[in-house]
Amino acid sequence: MTARFLLLSEDSGKQAQPTIRSLMTAAAKLLKPNLDTRLLELRPLAEGDLAANALRANAWKQRRLSPEKAALIRTIANELEQRRFVVLHFDSDTTWSKRRTSENRIKFANQLRADVRLTLTTPRANPKFVPLSTEAADERMSRFFAMSPCYSIEAWLYQANDALRSFCRERHEKRTHLVLIERWKSDRALLDEVDRPKDDEFSDCVGDRHNAELAAAFPAAEVFAVEKSWHEFVEVLRQSGPLRAALGLDDTSF
Ligand SMILES: [Zn+2]
Repeated sequence: MTARFLLLSEDSGKQAQPTIRSLMTAAAKLLKPNLDTRLLELRPLAEGDLAANALRANAWKQRRLSPEKAALIRTIANELEQRRFVVLHFDSDTTWSKRRTSENRIKFANQLRADVRLTLTTPRANPKFVPLSTEAADERMSRFFAMSPCYSIEAWLYQANDALRSFCRERHEKRTHLVLIERWKSDRALLDEVDRPKDDEFSDCVGDRHNAELAAAFPAAEVFAVEKSWHEFVEVLRQSGPLRAALGLDDTSF
């Protein structure tokens, strides 16, 4: 069976899709090490979809139901109705220890998910649409995931120490950077607790200029082992019955 995903990101830059594709594939491989990745279909938003404007800088967080936000809710609901999966990347904008105060996380859980669910269970102008039952809506909602790294996606990507070091060296040989990279390598739990890693630590060299390449070198299993935001993402995926079925995971791998 093919697991079909729509991948959405707050980042509208060119590197966002290849970056989250690599991360999604790495997560799926943690769930199923012998996964045939050809059975993983990872799609971006269709060109010209108005929903893109609600993703940019997480504009979906605004309370007002703009046409862009309505388009995003509709697009997500439509994917779920079709029994596909949706991953929405947004940075937590907090460290892991402060994640419960993350506005992005709170609004995703309490507003966006609620709005999508309501769309699935409310009658529409189209008389052919049959509102979903509670059970069916639960099943569809278990296909919708947040990818919310702490503090930001660079906290995951900077775990690719060797690649990070070589990109840093291409630009300069800053001793404080090299020391920091070694420290993050020897304790992988540290990066989830760094405030604004790309702005405060590496803005003058790597920044977010190499995200796609760093994602391709992401040490998924080692970062998983420290049980912070990457671990959380993988475990939320694992708890999805429909995803387990789509990936062909048996109960012993749960
Ligand atoms: Zn540097």
